[in-house]
Amino acid sequence: MFAQRLDAIPPYFFAKVDELKRKKISEGIDIIDLGVGDPDLATPEHIVDALVTAAQNPDNHHYPSYLGMKQFREAVSSWYQSRFNVTVDPDKEVISLMGSKDGVHHLPEAFVNPGDYVLVPSPGYPVYRTGALFSEGLVHEMPLSAENNFLPVFDDIPSDIRKKSKLIWLNYPNNPTSAIAPLSFYNEAVEFARNNDIIIVSDNAYSEIAYDGYIAPSFLEADGAKEVGIEMHSLSKTYSMTGYRIGMAVGNPEIIRGLGIVKTNVDSGVYNPIQYAAIAALTGPQDCVKNACAIYQERRDVLVSGLRNVGFEVNAPKATFYLWLKVDDGMLFSQRMLEESSIVVTPGIGFGGFGKEYVRFSLTRSIERIEEAIERMQQAGIGA
Ligand SMILES: *Cc1c(COP(=O)(O)O)cnc(C)c1O
Repeated sequence: MFAQRLDAIPPYFFAKVDELKRKKISEGIDIIDLGVGDPDLATPEHIVDALVTAAQNPDNHHYPSYLGMKQFREAVSSWYQSRFNVTVDPDKEVISLMGSKDGVHHLPEAFVNPGDYVLVPSPGYPVYRTGALFSEGLVHEMPLSAENNFLPVFDDIPSDIRKKSKLIWLNYPNNPTSAIAPLSFYNEAVEFARNNDIIIVSDNAYSEIAYDGYIAPSFLEADGAKEVGIEMHSLSKTYSMTGYRIGMAVGNPEIIRGLGIVKTNVDSGVYNPIQYAAIAALTGPQDCVKNACAIYQERRDVLVSGLRNVGFEVNAPKATFYLWLKVDDGMLFSQRMLEESSIVVTPGIGFGGFGKEYVRFSLTRSIERIEEAIERMQQAGIGA
């Protein structure tokens, strides 16, 4: 019944864990869910207020503009200037997205012909792969390994694949590994893209979720970045706004234009009040972001020391709200966690074949719950 397109979509790896989870919940068992990549924190009040006020104005009840209100695009442009010292033209180099997932999924439709390759990190955000497959592109996985600090090795990409590649996805700070990339890596990426005529898309959804004074760069800070690529960004993680669905793509005007052509034919833009909320977020006080990071950092420290206590060797992540743990068989480990401790963690294979020896812990639960999770692991004898 389904189109062939759906046959190409990888199997749903979480089905077994989901089923177990549902069964436990129906039995009234208290589950600690460290699987979700969705902040448990509320959206800061001044942002919610901006949404509510705008929603009460009938001027905002109509179709929004396809590419984002001028005021939103200007707010994005000023934010890139002040945060990264990157200049982007709000009229040609910025577009609004219904969350960055929207951009990630739709970009290949503008640039990938059937049979072209899309270079995706493995492990990586699953939409890089499915977006390519929906556009009938081919996927080449770039392994991210601990030995290479979870950065792809451009030299390892076979030359016949490079020749047929249209897009390369980069994502730092990284989901799921929490790895970070230095600006020198982006400079290397620009050179790789130039030499091989490949569009770079940097997914920078976690640039603001950082710890211990670390400040993440933007890909667009690299020399010549805007000639070869764009960056997608999102308000979801920075301002705890996952439910609002707003993000942006910025950078090379031709690439932004291509994405805009697709989107103009797919959706009708982001509801204006949500854009006003985003403007309030980007242009308002930023102490809410500092506060959120302080909360995640404290949780990170509790999780890291707890995992060390049960025998794991872990480094404290410098960014993102994830911890990527090596456990040999991630699928078995996450099943055991759920069966014996009623804790949900995400098996790494859900992010691609090269994640199979890992599981991902999220820091989106309270310190008390994280402490309890460690106690449950101790009681069940789960450790290294
Ligand atoms: C959460 C996430 C996104 C998408 O977030 P949106 O809510 O769609 O803006 C994109 N990329 C990565 C790596 C993510 O983890």
